[in-house]
Amino acid sequence: MNPQLDEAIRQRGKAFFASIRGESPSIFNKGFWTGKVMDWAMKNEGFKVQLFRFVDVLPYLTTSGNLSRHIEEYFAGGEAGDIPAVLKWGAEKSGLFGGVAAKLMGKAIRSNIEGMARQFIVGEQTKEAVKNLSKIRKDGFAFTVDLLGEATVSELESDAYRDGYLEVLDAIAAEQKSWKPFGAGTEGLDWGSAPKVNASIKPSALFSQASPMDFEGSVEGILARMRPVYRKIMAMGGAMCIDMEQLKYKDITIELFKRLRGESEFRDYPYLSIVLQAYMRETEHDIKDLIAWGRAEGLPFGLRLVKGAYWDYETVIAKQMGWPVPVWTRKPESDIAHEKLARLILENSDLVYFQCASHNIRTISNVMETAAELQIPENRYEFQALYGMAEPVRKGLLKVAGRVRLYCPYGELLPGMAYLVRRLLENTANESFLRLSFADGEAEDRLLENPQLTLERELAAAPPKPAEKASIDGLTAFRNEPLADFTVAELRKAFPEAIAQVRGEAGRVLPLRIGGKSVETDDRIPTVNPADPGEVLASVCQAGTAEVDAAIDAAEAAFPAWRDTSAKERAAIILKAAAIARRDIVALSATQVLEVGKQWGQAYNDVGEAIDFLEYYAREAVRLGSPKRMGREPGEKNHLFYEPKGVTAVIAPWNFPLAISVGMTAAAIVAGNTVVYKPSSLSSLTGYGMAEIFKEAGLPDGVFNYCPGRGSVMGDHLVEHPKVSTIAFTGSMETGLRIQEKAAKVQPGQAYCKKVIAEMGGKNAIIIDDDADLDEAILGVVYSAFGFQGQKCSACSRVIVVDSIYDKFVSRLTEACGSLRIGPSEDPENAMGPVVDPAQQKKVQEYLQVAHEEGQVLVERQTSGPGYYAPLVVVAGIRPEHRLAQEEVFGPILAVMKAESFDQALEWATSTRFALTGGVYSRSPRHLEKARREFRVGNLYLNRNCVGAMVGRQPFGGSRMSGVGSKSGGPDYLLQFMEPRVVTENTIRRGFTPIDEDDEWFE
Ligand SMILES: Cc1cc2nc3c(=O)[nH]c(=O)nc-3n(C[C@H](O)[C@H](O)[C@H](O)COP(=O)(O)OP(=O)(O)OC[C@H]3O[C@@H](n4cnc5c(N)ncnc54)[C@H](O)[C@@H]3O)c2cc1C
Repeated sequence: MNPQLDEAIRQRGKAFFASIRGESPSIFNKGFWTGKVMDWAMKNEGFKVQLFRFVDVLPYLTTSGNLSRHIEEYFAGGEAGDIPAVLKWGAEKSGLFGGVAAKLMGKAIRSNIEGMARQFIVGEQTKEAVKNLSKIRKDGFAFTVDLLGEATVSELESDAYRDGYLEVLDAIAAEQKSWKPFGAGTEGLDWGSAPKVNASIKPSALFSQASPMDFEGSVEGILARMRPVYRKIMAMGGAMCIDMEQLKYKDITIELFKRLRGESEFRDYPYLSIVLQAYMRETEHDIKDLIAWGRAEGLPFGLRLVKGAYWDYETVIAKQMGWPVPVWTRKPESDIAHEKLARLILENSDLVYFQCASHNIRTISNVMETAAELQIPENRYEFQALYGMAEPVRKGLLKVAGRVRLYCPYGELLPGMAYLVRRLLENTANESFLRLSFADGEAEDRLLENPQLTLERELAAAPPKPAEKASIDGLTAFRNEPLADFTVAELRKAFPEAIAQVRGEAGRVLPLRIGGKSVETDDRIPTVNPADPGEVLASVCQAGTAEVDAAIDAAEAAFPAWRDTSAKERAAIILKAAAIARRDIVALSATQVLEVGKQWGQAYNDVGEAIDFLEYYAREAVRLGSPKRMGREPGEKNHLFYEPKGVTAVIAPWNFPLAISVGMTAAAIVAGNTVVYKPSSLSSLTGYGMAEIFKEAGLPDGVFNYCPGRGSVMGDHLVEHPKVSTIAFTGSMETGLRIQEKAAKVQPGQAYCKKVIAEMGGKNAIIIDDDADLDEAILGVVYSAFGFQGQKCSACSRVIVVDSIYDKFVSRLTEACGSLRIGPSEDPENAMGPVVDPAQQKKVQEYLQVAHEEGQVLVERQTSGPGYYAPLVVVAGIRPEHRLAQEEVFGPILAVMKAESFDQALEWATSTRFALTGGVYSRSPRHLEKARREFRVGNLYLNRNCVGAMVGRQPFGGSRMSGVGSKSGGPDYLLQFMEPRVVTENTIRRGFTPIDEDDEWFE
């Protein structure tokens, strides 16, 4: 940066500070409850976490008993440590449940927190909000009004959100005539350039089904509700700004902004703005793109530049999903970006009306001085601040710039809590300008420093980056394959292309592959698209018993050499297979979309999981491949090591057609076994894809044999074959139990006790506690129950809801289910597709009858069409003894059960013979703890959906009738395919004993 400009910025900043000396934002005012509590939160991280979580749950604590219990659970003792007296006293007293003191204290705490929340909003009711907006204008500030509410889970809620805007706008319209424009107003405009009425709008709330996967549908879905709002604003002569939310909506938002701005109805009206976030690495590109678009179209527009409100979310989600972190990760980098982007926008001020939204005096001063340097007319830029925050800054701004707009949220406190938590985080973050200047008393010079220098100093002081985590024998540590990221335009584009490619190859005959050779048989089964069963994707040769025998012989012949190949060499081939699957990930996903009706994202993540299994088990094989010394006594060497068992039969399901197939097969093979693989006849094309991957990876002939066949013809034969030592199965409980029975019987010539690893069914429940976050819980339940049409062993088929929240939950759930789009999975707008075949379809219809008999059907969505569509069903009134509470349907039927209490919900949740997955949505620490102990299932998920276990992070598998064997994707899985052996050598020769380094010996 030019040093003169930098000096001017710092001088400007100093003058700014001087003009507000001695003032402090109200949130830090220790004379009041909020200030005291904030002060404590900033000194005590544990307390801060508890406090913010408590603020989040508070609107749900509607009885005094519930409130007292939560106060106690959140604040009494524990990690939060010392607590401000006001809270502590309440917590201690709340031991006397129902006592007058506890009630009073609960009330006091609630009203203090509600007071804190009210500080950031202009009103809960329209009338109050409009009154306050008038007052704000009286004080000399312009406003932009925002209706609180972010998560809408149904179209009804999105309608309500739109209507909320229309309502407040009507109220403002009546009032605005009495507002005089600020400054030298022309045509009623503030400062000669800005409409008096200004609304900010969150796009995602306007369409409950918005998702990056369905880019086009999301843009149009949001626009459909945004247009009437903008139309009204235009009729009032107002302005609208489209807020920017999380990254997943960024490109959708930019696109809908362009469309709205360019529509013939609105083209000639220039008062539409968009927000961009400087913390996002891509923002410079986005701004340049918007400027180029605006110039090409001849469309001026407004741009609010913020740093960004979702920094914590974006970083954590990117880490969890395995995506590149999209935001700058050092605070000065965001400051630098804001300064750079502000200049870029100001340089284009003939086209773009700039809105600088920041409470940072350095950032603001930069805009002022850059605008001065570039001689930008004052009516081409303004400053903005959030209502209820940074009062000294906005006052100072009003003095020096005059043109200040306050962002004024209005609406009920309940949907406002997410907003409040973001504001509290923003105020108390270690690097927050407000905290540093008004709470921590950081020196002005530091606060006004050129962020480039701050960054350089930070980098110089940063400890060196730790090396990549320890590796196993030259292999890097395992990392999950990134999950599908449909914000990436290329991925969205690749799917239809890959689907067309699979279609282009339709009609092939798929041979068996035995001992490295292709074998065709006359018995063939077509594999079809369940959304359009007339579409035959391939014709699959079926193995009879003769081919099964040949495959087992080939596997047996290949076994000795493969067993004697080192674990490292075996792992290298499996890792090569992982690389091939990664290269072909979209093509492999497209096959599943067409063959089993998986939605794009679900299919992509299935292939990702397959890659994870390959990567994870390869490392596990190397880990287990070195003999381990047991004991350290001198004169004796004991080595424990593992050997493969022999021929493994892998019998795979269609619901995770690649992941589970690859998981079972790769585990067996990398451990040194050879495999005869029987895919499901409903997903043999996907299974063939696995055969192609292993072939290309260079597995020796006979190690893997692709052997699809009719279960009735060759299933038992494979299981009972005397040369099969291990059977890895995933599928229904009935088949799993039958396999165990058959495998237990020793056949003539059999040399092994057969090992059976069987993943079977589930009747999984999610509990909704009385304090559950329903925005999250409804989306989690809907996804768990209806994603891939409920055809996952982990799917949620029962939701057990605590009485006091039941009505609210059920009405929102019903609306959410009514809002899902149903249709072919190849169209990304559809959240639910067809079930896999007519048998599944029939089964679901039969259970629908049971639902009508046993409960009250709340939702029944029948879909017509050529595909195997089964109804989406939600049935209430189900009790533990009902069939719908006990029997696995494996389809889109969700049973709703009303429990009297959390304890009863827990008891019901575990009252089936299955124990696979489960979930709890609760914000009670004590209930969560209890669930950890007593909700006995293989995989329990707290406050999230109950599907989508990740290899290495959530090893997957259940107990009881849900399966036998150890969890897939976990550290014990491979051991099931191996025999442990121990060799002991006596190293003493006539009393002479060499002492080794690792012997236990005298010092
Ligand atoms: C009128 C108005 C409208 C707004 N509208 C939106 C909107 O539509 N969308 C939106 O997302 N936000 C919006 N915001 C919120 C805004 O993003 C925050 O208020 C703003 O980021 C705080 O920045 P600051 O310059 O005031 O404070 P500072 O304290 O200087 O900056 C804090 C910001 O720095 C960034 N940051 C913090 N830590 C790091 C780190 N380690 N690495 C990199 N960056 C870091 C974060 O963005 C954080 O918010 C709006 C704010 C205002 C005033």
